[in-house]
Amino acid sequence: RQEPAKLLLLENINATAVKMLKDAGYHVEEIKKALGEDELIQKLRDGGFTAVGIRSKTKITARVISEVPSLLVIGCFCIGTNQVDLLAAARAGISVFNSPFSNSRSVAELVISEVIALSRQLCDRAREMREGIWNKVSKGCWEVRGKTLGIVGYGHIGSQLSVLSEAMGMSVIYYDVVPIMPLGSARQVDSLDDLLAQADFLTLHVPELPETKNMIGGAEIAKMKDGAYLINNARGKVVDIPALIDGLKSGKLAGAAVDVFPAEPAANGPNFGDSLNDWSSELRSCPNLILTPHIGGSTEEAQSMIGAEVGGALIRYLNYGSTIGSVNFPEVSLRPILHDGTVRLCHVHLNQPGVLKVVNGILGEHNVEKQFSDSKGDIAYLLADIGGVDEAEIKEIYEAISSSRANIATRMLF
Ligand code: NAD
Repeated sequence: RQEPAKLLLLENINATAVKMLKDAGYHVEEIKKALGEDELIQKLRDGGFTAVGIRSKTKITARVISEVPSLLVIGCFCIGTNQVDLLAAARAGISVFNSPFSNSRSVAELVISEVIALSRQLCDRAREMREGIWNKVSKGCWEVRGKTLGIVGYGHIGSQLSVLSEAMGMSVIYYDVVPIMPLGSARQVDSLDDLLAQADFLTLHVPELPETKNMIGGAEIAKMKDGAYLINNARGKVVDIPALIDGLKSGKLAGAAVDVFPAEPAANGPNFGDSLNDWSSELRSCPNLILTPHIGGSTEEAQSMIGAEVGGALIRYLNYGSTIGSVNFPEVSLRPILHDGTVRLCHVHLNQPGVLKVVNGILGEHNVEKQFSDSKGDIAYLLADIGGVDEAEIKEIYEAISSSRANIATRMLF
């Protein structure tokens, strides 16, 4: 039987995940902050850790990976995985998991609040009151009922938003590069131009890609309805900010909400943007503009769901070899429960010709109950359940597979 896995959790990982991992029987050590490269290597190596959980600040470089051979899996308890050298990890047989969609609802709810706040010029009125100014106006303030919400990107967030905004009596139209089944009474339109021409509120929910860079610039804003609103909670580079400033200052746009920026400060603090760009102060002076510091997904619920999702993925990988949700491995899974007398081979190997012949040559004398393999780039991953083998045979299979030419990492679970 295997020793319980040893997990190092950095950066104050959510309590939901810590509890799940402890309940799974692992040795869990927590450190509240991020560690630098040298400190991290020493800690992981000295502790013989098999898994590490991080958020966005801990960098798992190729050097960390090469100097900690005990590492099997990395859990990023966040959305992004840029802080990990994914290729180096894959080539060392280390699977990496994250949680891309746990905060979709939080983002959708923030957009709902922004739609109403923009429509009622709420942030300007609230600011004026704090400055001691009583400014009771109804001109240019609207109900959202009956207005059209145009969603660009009808994925996890866009589709949640579609349902929520219809409940407030809005009409929903959306544009997406792929045909997607509408929810409720929403309607997909054929082109971005169609959406721009019809939407009272335009909200962006596309990923950052070369095709989405500056997707909304001066030409697109010109095609929007006069007095429309623009909301960007997607990625900073999707909107050309100087064009947005022009749109707001000219009155073409009646307001905007921006949660994400082309370059964002690394830490909380004053003077947002002053050292990052030359439009910051002009942007901050625009009317009816809601600026927020990338908080779309920042809720207690989202953090807890991220904890549960990544914690669950680590348990499924460590206990059953499943790579469903891995960002750098092919996704391979077999039925989760191993019955008595069955051993599971988890074999990460180079994606090259002849590997299956070698593996099946080794397993050939045994009863392979189920086998599944897939590849991604340079590496491939194979799971096989082998029935009726004793401890000596398990050792023999392990030694043969782990010394085969294409082997990267091999585990036997039983
Ligand atoms: P998703 O992958 O579920 O959906 C994205 C949709 O955009 C897909 O349906 C895709 O087909 C579509 N799309 C891709 N390229 C397109 C294009 N050129 N034109 C039109 N549609 C296109 O993603 P999601 O979870 O809904 O997230 C959307 C965006 O929101 C992501 O960029 C994500 O990083 C961002 N996000 C921001 C926050 C925040 O804190 N503000 C939080 C979570 C996610």
